[in-house]
Amino acid sequence: MRIGHGYDVHRLVEDRLLILGGVQIPFEKGLLGHSDADVLTHALMDAMLGAAGLGDIGRHFPDTDPKYKGADSLKLLAYVVELLKQKNFTLWNADITLIAQKPKVSPYLAEMQKKLANVIGCEMARINLKATTEEHLGFTGEGAGMACHAVCLLEENG
Ligand code: MG
Repeated sequence: MRIGHGYDVHRLVEDRLLILGGVQIPFEKGLLGHSDADVLTHALMDAMLGAAGLGDIGRHFPDTDPKYKGADSLKLLAYVVELLKQKNFTLWNADITLIAQKPKVSPYLAEMQKKLANVIGCEMARINLKATTEEHLGFTGEGAGMACHAVCLLEENG
């Protein structure tokens, strides 16, 4: 088994869509980034790449590359899954904690879980999603941005 951790932050701004775990969530602001800025999927990918010893998403999808402008992070996740497959790794489980003051994301967690499990090709139960606020403290508490932590275990086959 191999363990990995991922952490990501994106700024919340006006005139951007809010995409988390591949799900578009109605909100007055969205996350700013070169891709779709899906902070949750980014943290998960970094955990998976970390566990596999393959660096981080900045290395695989540089934000200076116009190819990734507005990129659908679920497509990037599919690429990471393929990289892991080539190295004979499969995801055992992942636990992901989104940190956001607003909006309330709990109604969307099941849909995110389904989308992520579908791209990874695993049972939904292997992807655990949680969301918390930071009690109005710090940049997430002020609504200036969102952060996400992810940990995962990979199983090395053969
Ligand atoms: Mg990111």
